[in-house]
Amino acid sequence: MDNKYYVVGSGIVGCVVARELAENGAEVKIYEKRNHIGGNLYDFTDEHGIHVHLYGPHIFHTKIERVWQYVSKYCDWEDYNLVCGSVVDGICVPTSFDFDSVDKFFPDEAEMIKEHIKVVFGEQKSATVLEMLDCGDEYVGKFAKYLYDKDYAPYTAKQWGIAPEKVDKQIFKRVPILFSYGSKYFDDPHQALPKKGYMELIENLVRHENISIEMDTDALELLSIKENKVFLGEEQADGTVIYTGPLDELFGCRFGKLPYRSLRFEWKYEDIESFQDMPVVAYPQAEAYTRITEYKKLPYQDVEGTTYAVEYPLPYKKGANHEPYYPVLTDESNQLLKQYTELVGQIDKLKCCGRLADFKYYNIDQAIDRALDIVDELRRGE
Ligand SMILES: Cc1cc2nc3c(=O)[nH]c(=O)nc-3n(C[C@H](O)[C@H](O)[C@H](O)COP(=O)(O)OP(=O)(O)OC[C@H]3O[C@@H](n4cnc5c(N)ncnc54)[C@H](O)[C@@H]3O)c2cc1C
Repeated sequence: MDNKYYVVGSGIVGCVVARELAENGAEVKIYEKRNHIGGNLYDFTDEHGIHVHLYGPHIFHTKIERVWQYVSKYCDWEDYNLVCGSVVDGICVPTSFDFDSVDKFFPDEAEMIKEHIKVVFGEQKSATVLEMLDCGDEYVGKFAKYLYDKDYAPYTAKQWGIAPEKVDKQIFKRVPILFSYGSKYFDDPHQALPKKGYMELIENLVRHENISIEMDTDALELLSIKENKVFLGEEQADGTVIYTGPLDELFGCRFGKLPYRSLRFEWKYEDIESFQDMPVVAYPQAEAYTRITEYKKLPYQDVEGTTYAVEYPLPYKKGANHEPYYPVLTDESNQLLKQYTELVGQIDKLKCCGRLADFKYYNIDQAIDRALDIVDELRRGE
């Protein structure tokens, strides 16, 4: 292993990698272009005394035992099961969609639809809306088409800015339809929030004598790639660089731009007890926004008034004061990604990882798992 590392980005991936390398005795310098650390996990208490997540609601959930053990070392957690909803034709139902949605949207045919679901899918506990649309059963198809036309299709079109048919089918696996009552949004054994907020986790991770952080610094103004080597300014980097920013930007978008989706958050405060029934509600049929998060319910905070954030998706443009939040996964972008990934493989002392640099739709736990894998690779000298 090297004894010097440069980490670009202080999101959860950058912080975990930095901590693990520092624990191994290496000196680590983190560059962060924002004016705070933590990447998209950044949270704080607003002027109304309500704890909010600046970059959208973040609920930690995982099946990966080593990740749960890892985060438990760095802060205390409280169990939290997120309840989400979706408003379709003026009716708010809990999501994931389940038998409760059948009852609410098709009260006269509910029993028949549930019977048919059981016959078609047998012991299966859930399916994607696409599987249900294609199953060939009239009743199941009718329910699935209703949800597809009124929720999945308009929500997907707004969220990704492309026709739902063009989006990678894996996206639909994230929002299955459950064949039971009392569905939970996530089904992972560990679902929690840090007791004192994500920033405690982040700050504890980077609190180490071998870690230094340079804030408000766009590393791409220092970093360049020449002859398959990484340079910092005029000099070849005297250590390994771990890059967690947008992959295409590291190479000046030489093969073309990888598409990322951004969001505009409209923050509002109202002097009312409650704005909506659940902390996170999707509004698939609304004109331009996708969902609203009401933070006093995430988890419940006993305060007067309420702060909520309305999410408007938009295409990411570097330099337009946008943040890249979601990699847009399509056949085309996967092809482009392959070209960039092959290039990364040719460059000495460079590792790319994280949601933006891997161009993968990681949740927090998958991002941490990836960070731990990267450190293992470095330990093995790969
Ligand atoms: C709206 C939203 C809601 C989400 N909700 C959940 C959820 O409920 N549960 C869940 O598990 N996951 C959720 N996620 C996913 C979660 O945010 C990610 O898995 C995780 O934050 C990825 O961490 P990261 O370190 O890879 O990236 P990031 O958090 O994006 O961190 C990258 C960092 O690199 C910095 N950077 C980039 N380029 C440069 C540069 N050139 N120089 C210096 N610094 C640079 C950025 O400023 C940023 O701080 C959500 C994501 C979004 C967008």
